[in-house]
Amino acid sequence: MHAPQSPASLDQAKAQGSNRGADHIAPDCAGQNFYAIDRGLRDLLRIYLEPNHLRQLEPHFDRLGALAGGRLDELARTADKHPPVLNARDRFGRDEDWIDYHSSYREMEAIAFGDFQFHAMSHRAGTLDMDRPLPAVAKYALQYLFVQAEFGLMCPISVTDTSIHLIRKFASAELKDYLLPKMLSADAATQWKGTQFMTERAGGSDVGAIETTASCEDGVWRLYGDKWFCSHADADVALLLARPEGAPPGTKGLALFALPRRLKDGRRNTYRIVRLKDKLGTRSMASGEIRLEGAVAYLVGEADQGLKQMMEQVNLSRLSHGVRAAAMMRRCVNEAMVCARNRVAFGKTVIEYPLLRRQLLKIAVPSEQALSMFLFAADAMDRAHAGSQEAESTLRILTPLLKFRACRDNIPVATGAMEVRGGNGYIEEWVQPRLVRDAHIGVLWEGTSNINALDIVTRAVGKSRAHRTLAGELQKLLDEATPIPAAFRNRLRVALERTLVFAERVAAELALEASARQVASCLYHVTSSILMIREAAQPEADARRALYARFVLEHRLSAQDPLEPSPGDWEREAAEIIFSERQVALAEIAGLLDS
Ligand SMILES: Cc1cc2nc3c(=O)[nH]c(=O)nc-3n(C[C@H](O)[C@H](O)[C@H](O)COP(=O)(O)OP(=O)(O)OC[C@H]3O[C@@H](n4cnc5c(N)ncnc54)[C@H](O)[C@@H]3O)c2cc1C
Repeated sequence: MHAPQSPASLDQAKAQGSNRGADHIAPDCAGQNFYAIDRGLRDLLRIYLEPNHLRQLEPHFDRLGALAGGRLDELARTADKHPPVLNARDRFGRDEDWIDYHSSYREMEAIAFGDFQFHAMSHRAGTLDMDRPLPAVAKYALQYLFVQAEFGLMCPISVTDTSIHLIRKFASAELKDYLLPKMLSADAATQWKGTQFMTERAGGSDVGAIETTASCEDGVWRLYGDKWFCSHADADVALLLARPEGAPPGTKGLALFALPRRLKDGRRNTYRIVRLKDKLGTRSMASGEIRLEGAVAYLVGEADQGLKQMMEQVNLSRLSHGVRAAAMMRRCVNEAMVCARNRVAFGKTVIEYPLLRRQLLKIAVPSEQALSMFLFAADAMDRAHAGSQEAESTLRILTPLLKFRACRDNIPVATGAMEVRGGNGYIEEWVQPRLVRDAHIGVLWEGTSNINALDIVTRAVGKSRAHRTLAGELQKLLDEATPIPAAFRNRLRVALERTLVFAERVAAELALEASARQVASCLYHVTSSILMIREAAQPEADARRALYARFVLEHRLSAQDPLEPSPGDWEREAAEIIFSERQVALAEIAGLLDS
């Protein structure tokens, strides 16, 4: 029997009404500044950006961090619930197909294309008050902050950026004059956004199977065929591959074209968006199917260089996908940490339980690896642009490594973060279900895991020998990381050497092709762990990164006995330190790298 309530407590209960019990539910990250709370990002930007660049850009990182935790997050939540709608014809029955977007999506577009001008920041001065284009490190750091709130729109943003790259690099002077002023504009009324349509029913991975044809009619190229997966379906200009009449079969016969949505006289070009895909994730953004009915297109570059040219765009997209995976994982970490620190079960906050800490480590470590990897890759891109061939080679292998592993890691990380919130993590009013749904696309578009792993083993390792250039850079970083105990650095040296031998063996023996993903994973893990000890060795750095490196070494690059308890003493101590809310110095954890 309940004790009778006093009138005072009855009044209190009535006043609380249905809000009673709300404080049992852990808060989320709404309202946080995602830049301010990201110690890892801030530390690493100090390594990769010149101090004056960082000083100039920091207010923009900070502003975007606040938006990502605030307004953008609200808009992303709404846009996910109101997906785009295709209208096939206007009221007169004309084939003027168009897509309606919710106002929340339009507001996010204004932030991305109008305010921050992501699409143009690598290509011209004048974005974010800068007197020159932004370095790749800054651009990808901004993408990383944006995607912590909104993933779907990053596809149109990035593909506009990469389309501009291709047009600048390969198009004729006349085509550049026609397209670039529109594509580089930040004025929504006049801007032309870009996209890339490659996949057809006959082939996504097998690009050589493409069936779209191009015929030159009265000096104008016209395209006929179907594109099966077209993200940002209503873009103003699409880059696509088609086979000119008489060209050889396979990838050699493919040419690259730019397809405008509207012709020079303002009429709609003769292609149709046939329908939109009903997708698991990226629901705010429109992916559709396109039928080309003699659509006018412009040849870009040499007709027999189509795939080679388009691979530049694919590689840029792959890097951005790695960044997006890193971003979504960071959001997962932030959300999981706030749940774990606030949710009480059996009289304690759940972060106090060793089993839950282990779960948190499985979320945190891959997230930190991806952060280290994408900033190193972005830095290699900046060095390559400055003329370093070594950096170009390093970037060649880092790109598919990041795309392959970070996108795969994103899936268990998102599921893990959902589980940390408990049952609420499965409910659509929280961010976790969206993170789980969005995570899965990373292993599909711009090449599945297998296609990226094969690219790493057969081309980056087998043909380009890029793994040796990467290893040279890593050796140097290991040598320089002198504050880290020598024994630990030696263990990483051995792991690196063994990984290189393994990679070369698999690249050389066709019969070992089924090990391509294993090679790719080892290369990723050894690279990221060396980067993390380099980062931990910086003055005033957060030494947690060295502990993450050890977790990678023990759990991803060393043999485990499934019949022995896994966490040693060092792991318990390391977890204690990692989840303490204070600055961690290298001296404090050096012993944990030796034990
Ligand atoms: C939401 C969404 C949006 C997309 N947007 C675009 C877009 O805007 N533009 C665009 O061009 N494409 C887009 N795509 C297409 C995407 O890039 C392809 O789906 C992807 O490349 C895989 O191609 P596929 O679907 O034909 O699968 P397939 O190539 O048929 O692959 C099927 C399976 O076979 C495996 N496989 C294939 N070849 C090999 C091999 N040699 N060795 C081992 N395994 C192999 C693959 O890994 C995969 O697991 C989008 C896809 C989705 C889901």
